[in-house]
This record gives sequence, C-alpha cells and structure tokens, in this order.
Amino acid sequence: MANIIDGKAVSAQVKEGIRQEVEKLKAKGIEIGLAVVIVGDDPASQVYVRNKEKACEAVGFNSYKYALPAETTEEELLALVDKLNNDDKVDGILVQLPLPKHLDDKMIINNIRPDKDVDAFHPVNVGKIMIGDYSFLPCTPAGVMELIKSTGTEVAGKECVVIGRSNIVGKPQAMLLLHENGTVTITHSKTKDLKEVCSRADILVAAVGRAKMVTADYIKEGAVVIDVGMNRDEEGKLCGDVDFEDCKEKAGYITPVPGGVGPMTIAMLMKNTLTAGLIHNS
Ligand code: NDP
Repeated sequence: MANIIDGKAVSAQVKEGIRQEVEKLKAKGIEIGLAVVIVGDDPASQVYVRNKEKACEAVGFNSYKYALPAETTEEELLALVDKLNNDDKVDGILVQLPLPKHLDDKMIINNIRPDKDVDAFHPVNVGKIMIGDYSFLPCTPAGVMELIKSTGTEVAGKECVVIGRSNIVGKPQAMLLLHENGTVTITHSKTKDLKEVCSRADILVAAVGRAKMVTADYIKEGAVVIDVGMNRDEEGKLCGDVDFEDCKEKAGYITPVPGGVGPMTIAMLMKNTLTAGLIHNS
C-alpha cells in the first residue's frame, strides 16, 4: 500500500508559515491585500473565489472581492484592473478564469501589472519561470513540488514524466522539475505509447483532465504519483486523472482527489501574495 500524501496537511503547514510572517509584518504596520475579481455566476468559479477569500482570512491578508455581472464589457473590466494596478492597498490581483466568452482572458491577464500577477499567468512571469529567475510561483505546479518535497524524495536525477502540456499546469510543472534537476519528459495527446513512457517515471505528474485514465499499468513500482486532475466520475463524484484504487498498491506515494493537489494551489497563491506584499514594502 502506497503512502498517501495529505495535501490538506501540507497546505495547512504552508499557510501557517504565511500566517506567522503576516503577523510579524502587521506588527510593523504592514498590511497585505489580495483583490479577487469574478465576472458572472459560474458555480465552480464562485466556490474557488470563496475558498480564496477564506484562505486570505486565515493567513491575515485583506481581501477585496469584485463580483461583476456576466454582461460586463471588456472596457469596464480593464478599467477595474487599471484601478487595482494603481491601488497601493492591493498587492495581488487575481482575475478568476474562465471569463465569460465575450471577454478575452489573455488580454485581461496581460493588463495586470506583473508585480501584482499572483497567479503568475502574465507573459513576463511565465518567461521568468522559464529562465528560473522568478518571484511568483506557478500555483498548481509549485503546490505539486511541495507535495513531492513532503515525501522526502529528491527530484535531482530522477525520471520525471508530466502528462499534459497546458500553459497553467503541464509546461510550468516540467520547468519546475527541470529546475530541480529532474530528467523530464512532457507527454500529451499525441505521445506514442504513453503507458510505456509513464512506466519509466520515478515521479509521475498527471494533469490531463480525463477521469481515472492512469491505471496501475502506467506506473513504476514505488513511484511518486501526483494527480492534478479534477474530474467527475460516472456517478458525478470528484475524481482525479489517476485511478487511485488501482494504483495505490503499486505506487510508493500517491495523492488522493480530493485532498491532494487542490488545497495546495490556494496555499501557493497565498505564498505569491505574501511575496508581492514583501516586494511592495521593501
Ligand atoms: P488542459 O485541457 O488545458 O490540458 C490537458 C492536457 O492533457 C493537454 O496537454 C492534452 O494534450 C493532454 N491530454 C489530453 N488527453 C490526453 C491523453 N489521452 N493522453 C495524453 N495526454 C492527454 O487541462 P489543464 O492542464 O488546465 O488541467 C488538467 C487537469 O487538472 C484538469 O482535470 C483540471 O481540472 C485540473 N486542474 C486542477 C487544478 C488544481 O488546483 N488541482 C488546477 C488546474 C487544473 P494536447 O495538448 O495534445 O491536447
């Protein structure tokens, strides 16, 4: 039976560290603020935003929520982003994605000041991640790195396979593993013999978006298996890209869904917001 990696516990530790830092800053009169912008009433986005607000409260940040109606125009949203860019109380700006179809996600993100882009989606921050000279961590991949670290596994020299090459997970994940000296293979929907490639991995990160696609025959005995996926199974229950029941005997370490990577993403967002606050107050 694999060791189950407890994302909630690791995330709680990270947030506690941030809370203590924030307390010290408050004693010096420094307050940190995160602005969260949500457009429309997508139920999943509402939940994410609520969780981000709760996390801000737990670590001691001021959070400013801007809930805009679905019919908000690009001009109106850009005006808000501009206002937040120039507001000294706001250290981090997060625009909850996806935006309604008539709004251009990329264009809006490109208008957030890079030093307030706590999601690390702005091209300047993406470029910095590529060259290994970054202030902001890509939240989900950075959360994955913390989970790997929590197992005591050294990434250096290990065969690492990432399934998925999206800009928000797969590609930055591969970069972070590479920065830690892993030997990294990025796979995707056109990869030939995915099973064989994955079964060489000492560390396997699945970020695909396909319920329970990764079965025991994809994994090497004793591997660290990290499941980023958030899908619904045939009964409508939340599940990952990894078939947990099938893989749990063979893996060395494995993350559950829920309770694995999910809680880490928000913890890393809090970490980036703290970093932004420290930059703005240095
Ligand atoms: P995308 O849809 O943007 O990317 C999916 C990737 O998987 C693509 O690169 C695609 O390849 C690849 N892929 C699809 N099918 C296959 C297949 N059969 N074999 C191999 N590769 C395949 O998804 P995201 O990266 O945004 O998200 C991935 C998952 O992670 C989703 O379930 C999402 O909900 C979850 N997620 C969870 C987060 C968390 O906090 N826990 C945060 C962000 C995402 P190709 O490029 O060739 O199309």
